[in-house]
Amino acid sequence: MKSIVELLRSGVVLGDGGYLIELERRGYVDSGSGREKVGTGRGSGQFTPEIAIENPEALRELHREFLHAGSQVLQALTFFGTREKLNRAGYGSDMERINAAAVKLAKEVAGERALVAGSVSRTQLIEREGMESLGKAADHIAEQIRLLKDAGVDFLILETFFHLAEMKVALEAAAKSGLPAVATMSFRPLIAQCTDGHTPAECARVMADLGAVAVGANCEQDPRRMRQLLREMRAASPVPLAAQPAAFHTTEECHSFTRLPAFPDSLETIQIARTEFAEFGRTARAEGIAYAGGCCGCNAAYIKALARGVGEAVAK
Ligand SMILES: [Zn+2]
Repeated sequence: MKSIVELLRSGVVLGDGGYLIELERRGYVDSGSGREKVGTGRGSGQFTPEIAIENPEALRELHREFLHAGSQVLQALTFFGTREKLNRAGYGSDMERINAAAVKLAKEVAGERALVAGSVSRTQLIEREGMESLGKAADHIAEQIRLLKDAGVDFLILETFFHLAEMKVALEAAAKSGLPAVATMSFRPLIAQCTDGHTPAECARVMADLGAVAVGANCEQDPRRMRQLLREMRAASPVPLAAQPAAFHTTEECHSFTRLPAFPDSLETIQIARTEFAEFGRTARAEGIAYAGGCCGCNAAYIKALARGVGEAVAK
């Protein structure tokens, strides 16, 4: 198997994505709906990965679907798998078990056909307690990265960070682990800047300086809406771009689907067509995107469309 760094050099690497929303739709993941006000940016809502120990067969099946659709990387479902987030969801004491099980599952399905990435996201401490909690967040993220390394991931995808400050501590922990890291920020409510006030260009520069092997954005916007911010990142970044957009429409006033009233219980009303992912695939290479996958709202049909688009561009 080629490493992620080798793959990034050789063309557009096909990712996967959209695990939590897809598994929520299949009835296995808790969205927190009805108990907490989700999508506020205050760190409420659930969307935690306990499925890895509670319903492993459902997660295994989704991995198989992505692999079959053409994914060259399977993301272990370790998103929101820090002890901090799992504690609040009632799974703190299962934290080691959930992370280890998620990686093992992804590796079993991937075999020699795909790489396995450990997914690491924000702790939600910064949203809840402010920047004073950054040190605590750093410890939680470092703990999860150590577990993912022990479980045998090939590399890390640091994703869905709202604050560049928290992304920085995650990249420092990744560097310490020796694992390559793809780093993607999420921008809301507008794509102009991240939550602690940095432009996409600044984010790209900082993430590359801290050693990310590819930098970019994931979640919140559909491919077309995300394109502008990716172009700003590309102009500033010495490393290739990674993009894992969502499959939901947003509006001119609000560029993030998690801030729209449709989240989380009416997402079907803002779903975009998979053809937009085929178009994203056709243009990826020309836009400097070396890692292309999906995020919330995507399933295997979207990844298959993306793979077809990438393939059509190569054949030209
Ligand atoms: Zn997402």
